[in-house]
Amino acid sequence: MNKDIATPSRTREILKEHGFSFKKSLGQNFLTEPNILQKIVETADITSADNVIEIGPGIGALTEYLARSAGKVLAFEIDDRLIPVLADTLSPYDNVKVVHGDILKANVPEEIAYFDTAGPLKVVANLPYYITTPIMMSLLESQLQIDQMVVMMQREVADRISAQPGTKAYGSLSIAVQYYMEAETAFIVPKTVFIPQPNVDSAILKLVRREKPAVTITNEKEFFKLTKSGFNQRRKTLWNNLLNTYGKDEETRAWLEKSLIQAEIDPKRRGETLSLQEFANLSNALEANR
Ligand code: SAM
Repeated sequence: MNKDIATPSRTREILKEHGFSFKKSLGQNFLTEPNILQKIVETADITSADNVIEIGPGIGALTEYLARSAGKVLAFEIDDRLIPVLADTLSPYDNVKVVHGDILKANVPEEIAYFDTAGPLKVVANLPYYITTPIMMSLLESQLQIDQMVVMMQREVADRISAQPGTKAYGSLSIAVQYYMEAETAFIVPKTVFIPQPNVDSAILKLVRREKPAVTITNEKEFFKLTKSGFNQRRKTLWNNLLNTYGKDEETRAWLEKSLIQAEIDPKRRGETLSLQEFANLSNALEANR
C-alpha cells in the first residue's frame, strides 16, 4: 500500500514540492489524520461495488482512501493549481477521475457516465464550508439518485440539518434535507486535524436516501415556500409569518384560516414546533383550498 497522503508531514512535503499556498476563499482546509479518513470510509460502508462522487479532493487525502475501497471515484476540484498535484498524488490509482470545475456548475449527471456499473451511488466529501448548503441542495434536488452521503461540514450546520422539531437548530434546512434523506451526525472532528486549522469543529453527517420522500406533498415548490415562511422570523407566531409571506388581505386570511383548521394547527404556535408531517398537512390544505 502507498504511504498515506493524509499525515501532517507528507501533506507539508506535497505542498512544498508543488509550491502550493492555501486559498481561504475556496474553503481549503486539508485533513491530515488517517484515523479520521478510515472512520469516514467505514461510516460510508464503501465497498468495491460503490460508485463514489467526491467534491473538493484537495491534494487527494480522502480520494486515496476512497480509491482503495470503492469501485470508482469521480472527484470535482475547482482549483486549477491542484489538478497537477492530484495527477501526481493519485497516480497509483487507476479507478479515479478528477474533473476540473465548480461542482455547482458541472454537469454531474453527464459526468457519471464514468461509472460503468449500476452499483450504489454515494457522495463522500470534506466539503468547502462556504458553500455547504448550496452543494447539498443542488445534489438533493438534482436528478441523481444518490443512495447515501457522508459529508464533513461545520458542526453547527450538521446540527441544523439533523435537527428535530422543537429545537433551536431545527429550521427549513432540516426539513429540506430530511424530506429526501434520513440524517444523523456520525461523529465530531476536532479542528486540530486540519492544515490550516479552521475556526470551528466539524462533524461528519450521514444521510441515507428514503425509499420515498418522508411526507406526501401535492405541490413541492409550495411546500418549501411554506416551510421557509414558517421560520422567517423565528420569534413570531406561525400566523404572523404566514401573513408576511402570503398577504394580509381578507381573502388571504380566510384561506389561511380555513387551511390551518383543516390541518389542525394552532396559528399561535411557532414554526419551529411543527413536524414535517404538520407542515405537509398545512401545505396540502393550502393547495386544496386555493
Ligand atoms: N478533500 C480534501 C481533504 O479532505 O483534505 C480537501 C477538502 S477542502 C475542505 C475543500 C476542497 O474543495 C478544496 O480542495 C477546494 O479547492 C475545493 N472546492 C472549493 N470550492 C469548490 C467548488 N465550487 N467545486 C469543487 N471544488 C471546490
